[in-house]
Amino acid sequence: MAVMRREEPDRVPWSVWGHYPAVDWLGYYSWELSQRNGEEAARAHIAMLRVLDYKMDLLKVTPFYRFMPMQWGSKFKFKNNEEDAPTLDTVVKETKDWEKLWVLDPKKELREFVRTNEILSRDMKHMPVIYTIPSPIIQAMNGVGTPERVLEDMKKDPDSLRHGLDIITETTIDFTKACIDAGANGIFYGIGGGGRIWKDFTVPQLDEYAYGYDKKVLDAIDCDIKMMHICSTPQGSPKDQNLMESGWFRKYPVDMINWDAHEYTWLDKAKKIYGDKFAICGGLDRVHSLRKGDIPAIEADVKMAVEDAAEGGGFMLGPGCTVYQDMPRKSYNAVGRAAIKYGYY
Ligand SMILES: [Zn+2]
Repeated sequence: MAVMRREEPDRVPWSVWGHYPAVDWLGYYSWELSQRNGEEAARAHIAMLRVLDYKMDLLKVTPFYRFMPMQWGSKFKFKNNEEDAPTLDTVVKETKDWEKLWVLDPKKELREFVRTNEILSRDMKHMPVIYTIPSPIIQAMNGVGTPERVLEDMKKDPDSLRHGLDIITETTIDFTKACIDAGANGIFYGIGGGGRIWKDFTVPQLDEYAYGYDKKVLDAIDCDIKMMHICSTPQGSPKDQNLMESGWFRKYPVDMINWDAHEYTWLDKAKKIYGDKFAICGGLDRVHSLRKGDIPAIEADVKMAVEDAAEGGGFMLGPGCTVYQDMPRKSYNAVGRAAIKYGYY
């Protein structure tokens, strides 16, 4: 909590997050069932923490990120506990389909996802728990509709698109408030997933269709931890249009930012640009050292991240995005061990 306030803690905290239980060593639990049963999801997270040798400082819960579109009728194919469930059908196919959405009820359609928060906050009293909330524009592009649908409607029928975004936003606010009321300490607010907005939207379009709705959600929520993930993919990243380094993200009302510092803008540079506004989280390389279980490389990553970003506080170790399903368990332990070795102030 000191780090969230941009203060110096006793030690640099760490956390690693994946699509639990969609990892090779939690096969007793079902990723598909976790999207229908809040207790299954909660138990899988507790099981994950229990088998690690080192205690994380924060638990970030990551549901299937199309859990809201599923309730509106989009279809996805879950198979063999794999984290990727490919899209079979989206509820919004034509412009007029934005009319088909309604505000989801956290006590009805989204009840099980709220219940995960309730169980985890009850059983994990000594660890902050945050829940993942995808931004409205990302839901509209990935799951409710498609990137092509959104890009076309921005030009041809922006009022229909805005109507859809209003419903998604209202749903997101109601759901997030319910998670906080159920005991969650905060949110992990994901923007940019899928990556295309960074490349295909102009800055005025980002201001209106991404930030505009994000601000509505974030301003409506009162909680201790607002951590924002700025996602990048091969389809696009905030390197495009120089967004990260121009300080475009400074306007977001959040406590902490997280991004793939190995892909764009290393930690020390970001801390110069954003350090007076946000705590920062990153420095673990999920693609190389973590995924491979390369213990000396993980130690070196942690040491370098601490040297470059920990001074003065406001820094947490974390991956740049959700870790891979096949990442070995020893990588978690290596991060925990290295945080103790290098992270004390
Ligand atoms: Zn990401």
